[in-house]
Amino acid sequence: MTNFRKDPLYNRWVLMVPGRGKRPHAFYREKEKDDGKVCPFCEGREEKTPPEIDSFRVKGKANEPGWKIRVVPNKYPALTRELKIGWVSKGLFQSIKGYGTHEVIIETPSHSKTLYNMDEEEISLIFKMYRKRTIILKEDKNLKYIFIFKNYGRIAGASFPHSHSQILGLPLIPPFVEEEIKRISDSLNCIYCHLILKARKDRRILTKNSDFIALAPYASLVPYQITVFPLEHKPYFEEISDVEINSLSRIIKEIFQRYNKILRAPAFNFFIHTFPRDKRCKNYHYHLQIMPKLTLQAGFEMGSGIFINPVPPKTAIRELKS
Ligand SMILES: [Zn+2]
Ligand SMILES: [Zn+2]
Repeated sequence: MTNFRKDPLYNRWVLMVPGRGKRPHAFYREKEKDDGKVCPFCEGREEKTPPEIDSFRVKGKANEPGWKIRVVPNKYPALTRELKIGWVSKGLFQSIKGYGTHEVIIETPSHSKTLYNMDEEEISLIFKMYRKRTIILKEDKNLKYIFIFKNYGRIAGASFPHSHSQILGLPLIPPFVEEEIKRISDSLNCIYCHLILKARKDRRILTKNSDFIALAPYASLVPYQITVFPLEHKPYFEEISDVEINSLSRIIKEIFQRYNKILRAPAFNFFIHTFPRDKRCKNYHYHLQIMPKLTLQAGFEMGSGIFINPVPPKTAIRELKS
């Protein structure tokens, strides 16, 4: 049975059309042929990237081999600090100068490692670097938001197959985050605690441990979408402790193992929503959103703001747990 679901946080609707995914070729697949022979992110090719900003290393100096995680400026940055910050508002038309930062986190020295085959220790280093870079970037008062995301696979927008994430320091708060802030300020109780409770009742939980829970959102935009929340109110991702990073890495490892088993390592997008630096808040849970790239958004979605999802969240959880 098809039904429209209103997203509890954002002003958008999702049309659940179970069974549509069973059409032949309904899900996108890509086979990237790549041996990493010319990859600039592989260990030993440090000179192929702009000079590094940061790293976790076992040995060697900056821009030498011996690293576990390496952070470099994006070679073609979307934003730079060369521009002076400034708003322009002319009636209907507003603009902000493209002031900001754009860093690439090379998550592993190995070309063949991905979230699908990394161990918990390797995953935890990625989160530790996210935390470290966020804390450092937050010192720049002109950056209003630090946005962490990852594209894996060409159809998900990754220009390199070597596992990496990106961090953008933005001069504004992203509209989706603003929408969440508006939504929670209208509510006395914690909306995120409520979303978690409802997911438990609806049996949309994939896995949980003492600190985190992974669930399929009520109005999942895409098939097999998973959101990871801390169980307690925690507004700021960068305040995550080492113990929590270990818990989170365990959950992430399990999610990707299940994706690998059931969906054969699909392309995906991943991002973190955390509370903006200048705002104080109790009723927020930062969250990690993982969206496998199995369907493409096209004319209907772009024009209407309504998304078609062929795999309702409860079905997704049942299949991922099988
Ligand atoms: Zn590589
Ligand atoms: Zn809460």
